[in-house]
Amino acid sequence: MSNSQATIFSKIIAKEIPAKIVHEDEHCLAFHDIQPQAPVHVLLIPKKPIRSMAEVQPEDASLMGHLMVAAGKIAKDLGLAENGYRVVANTNDHGGQTVYHLHFHILGGRPMSWPPG
Ligand code: 5GP
Repeated sequence: MSNSQATIFSKIIAKEIPAKIVHEDEHCLAFHDIQPQAPVHVLLIPKKPIRSMAEVQPEDASLMGHLMVAAGKIAKDLGLAENGYRVVANTNDHGGQTVYHLHFHILGGRPMSWPPG
């Protein structure tokens, strides 16, 4: 990946800037959002620098499955499973994406409304 594509999340993966990490394995990293929108707000990212859901490729199927399994485990470990939680991937402009490194928001600790804004 060239530097021009690097995001703040690349720096978190490289441990160049700090983050409150809750899960790390060979393929992904999860850490608390710096501006939490719920009592628990964690971001789950692949270490592979995929820009968004819109750029996921068929060869990423196994990685995407890994991320979903990790999301469920992280939510459970954070005590969210029983009451429930939300997993969101804001995608591109209309999705409200601001950081162009694929990430799933794991939000919980309060009831969520629907539809989203
Ligand atoms: P998006 O708006 O792209 O769906 O989500 C990006 C998220 O990254 C936002 O919720 C924002 O608060 C979070 N964020 C941006 N910069 C940092 C950072 O340096 N550290 C952490 N932990 N979260 C960040």
